[in-house]
Amino acid sequence: MFADLHLHTYFSDGTYSPEELAGHARHQGLSAVALTDHDTVEGCERMGVACQQNGLEFIPGCEFTAELLGQEVHILGYWLDTQSVLLQSRLSGFQAVRTNRIRDMVHRLNQRGIPITADSVLELANCHSPGRPHIARALVQGGYCKDFDEAFEKYLKKGRPAWVPKTKMEAAVAIQLIHGVGGVAVLAHPGLYHADKLIPDAVAAGLDGIECWHSRHNAETSAHYQRMTAGFGLVATGGSDCHGMNKGEPLIGRVKLPYAQVELLRQRRPKAATVS
Ligand code: AMP
Ligand code: FE
Ligand code: FE
Ligand code: ZN
Repeated sequence: MFADLHLHTYFSDGTYSPEELAGHARHQGLSAVALTDHDTVEGCERMGVACQQNGLEFIPGCEFTAELLGQEVHILGYWLDTQSVLLQSRLSGFQAVRTNRIRDMVHRLNQRGIPITADSVLELANCHSPGRPHIARALVQGGYCKDFDEAFEKYLKKGRPAWVPKTKMEAAVAIQLIHGVGGVAVLAHPGLYHADKLIPDAVAAGLDGIECWHSRHNAETSAHYQRMTAGFGLVATGGSDCHGMNKGEPLIGRVKLPYAQVELLRQRRPKAATVS
C-alpha cells in the first residue's frame, strides 16, 4: 500500500478539481492521499467525499507558507481540523496577503510594459489563495511568455523584476498552529532550500517529520534527508507535489510513499486539539 502526501488542486495553484485528483490517485493505485493546497483547506471537504467514492483514505492537510530565520520554507500540516475558526482566520489573513501581492506584482509588470490586469489574473485564478503560477498563466495566455518556465525566469522568481516578497508566519508559529488544531507538521521539500543548517530550529519548534521523497529530490537527496530524519527521531514522509498540468505534466504517481510511514506519522497526532 502506498500514499501521496503532497497534492494541489485548483483551490490553490493546481489545475485539477478534487474529484479529478481523487480519480487520478485511484488510477495510480494509491491507498491514501493528503490534499495540501497552499494556505487553504477549502478543497478538503470535496476531496474527502471524492476519496470516499474512490475507496481512498483521505488526510486533510495544507501547505503553509512560513519562514525559518528569514528563509521561505513550506510546512505541511496533516489531519487538521479544517473547521477550526482559528485555522480559518489565520489562513484568510494569508490569503489576503496573496491577493495583495498579485496586485503588487502585476503593477510591476505594468511598469515594464506588460498590460495585464490584476483583476484578470484573480479571475483566472478563481480561488482565495492565488499565487505566481496564476500570473504565469496570464503571461502565457497573453502571449508575453512562451511557457511557465520563461515567465518565472524572466519575471516572477525571486530577484526578478516582478517578484515581491510575501509576509509569512514563522515556522515555529505554523507548527504551533498545526498542533493546536490537531495536526502534525512536516517540513516540505527540504532539498529545494539549501538551508539544512536551519532545520534543527524547526525540530526544536516541534516538527514531526521531513518530506524525504519528493518529485524534485533525486535518490541521493532522499537518502540524505532520510538519514537526517532518523537522526532527529522524526518520521520520513513523501509526496509528488502534483499541481495537475501546471508543472508541465501531472506528477501524481511519481512518489509512492510506503503506507507504514503514514501510520508512523499518525502516531504523532496530538492527543487533543488545544484550540478551536
Ligand atoms: P507563490 O506561492 O505565489 O510564491 O508561488 C510559488 C509556486 O509557484 C510554487 O508552489 C510552485 O507551484 C510554483 N513555481 C515556482 N517556481 C516555478 C517554476 N520555475 N515553474 C513553474 N512553477 C513554479
Ligand atoms: Fe504551488
Ligand atoms: Fe512547496
Ligand atoms: Zn506543494
